Amino acid sequence: MNLDALAPWAADPRRTRGRRVFEPLPPPRNEHQRDRDRIVHSGAFRRLVYKTQVFVNPEGDLFRTRLTHTLEVAQVARAAARALRLNEDLVEAIALAHDLGHTPFGHAGQDALDGCMRAHGGFEHNLQSLRVVDRLEQRYLAFDGLNLTFETREGILKHCSRRNAEHLLQGEPDGPARRFVDGTQPSLEAQLVNLADEVAYTTHDIDDGVRSGLLTIEQLRAVPLFARCHDAARQAADGAPRAGAAASGSARGPERGAARDAGAKLVLAETLRRILSALVGDLVAATGAALQARRPADIDALRALPAQARFGDELRAQITELERFLLRALYRHPQVLGHTEHGRTVVAELFAAYHADPAEMSAEYEAAGETDRARAVADYIAGMTDRFALREHERLTGRRLFAA
Ligand code: MG
Repeated sequence: MNLDALAPWAADPRRTRGRRVFEPLPPPRNEHQRDRDRIVHSGAFRRLVYKTQVFVNPEGDLFRTRLTHTLEVAQVARAAARALRLNEDLVEAIALAHDLGHTPFGHAGQDALDGCMRAHGGFEHNLQSLRVVDRLEQRYLAFDGLNLTFETREGILKHCSRRNAEHLLQGEPDGPARRFVDGTQPSLEAQLVNLADEVAYTTHDIDDGVRSGLLTIEQLRAVPLFARCHDAARQAADGAPRAGAAASGSARGPERGAARDAGAKLVLAETLRRILSALVGDLVAATGAALQARRPADIDALRALPAQARFGDELRAQITELERFLLRALYRHPQVLGHTEHGRTVVAELFAAYHADPAEMSAEYEAAGETDRARAVADYIAGMTDRFALREHERLTGRRLFAA
């Protein structure tokens, strides 16, 4: 990344607002590269590999987990950042950290934990991601957490209620919670990661949905964005030697069926690639046009504007339609709901067990003591992988809620 080629409104690592604890710069890296590296080496990052995205982790080896989702978000965000002359290192750092605070079992786990924490300030995964990098990671002699730059922390704190923001500001008046009181925006890099997250999950959830058998191509074809890209992919397949032969089927009998399946898989892969390119291309074009119209002088002028990262109106409407479809047909599919319901039970029962007897937690959490017992329990559970949570649940309750 050539720092001198950054757009005027990009986050320049040479002008970072810095870290809470001062550290000298370690050449040859820049400040945001260092953040990215610290995140990759954190324990919370490694645990993403065994956490639910949509499908509970023990369900199958081919579905996305939080880790592969995270890597796809980073890929999309980097590609868009490069095209827009933004800070790719910062974008990657924010993307790699954006889901660190997620509990096991996805949103069901977070809702359950939030319910358990109602009397103690609640639980919110964005806030938890910041808590992981600010406090919970213990890897440095001089400070708690990873001591990341302001810009990375600002990007991680994507949402925050007014009440939580006011609480955070008590400890850090000029911290990343400030904008939720001031009503300003984060860096364009942070805005971009937000939309890259949407691009990544809408695309890969179609893939996992079909792969799992919960979604059919026929159902998906009712969604205009999918139908358009699927038509284009089928047309391309007619002219392509591999998929064309497979789809038209020069083979006979069972071989012909297998060839047709292989052809359909290639057409789906081609469809998803086209959706992804359409979304990223539109994101870059619409965001670039918005910035050319406003031309903020620098990052602070950019922060004072309404959000500039965006899709064009037409595609925005189509993405929303696709998301509504996924909500209805996949996220609320009885099989997905059944599994996440188990996840909810596991989290709630773990919370009750540890809260009643903190000695059941590993030693470092036990040491957190009486004062913040509920928060220590929430931190402990939020950090768990799906499978560790299941093992602990079985150990503490004698019940196994998922088939091995
Ligand atoms: Mg995400």
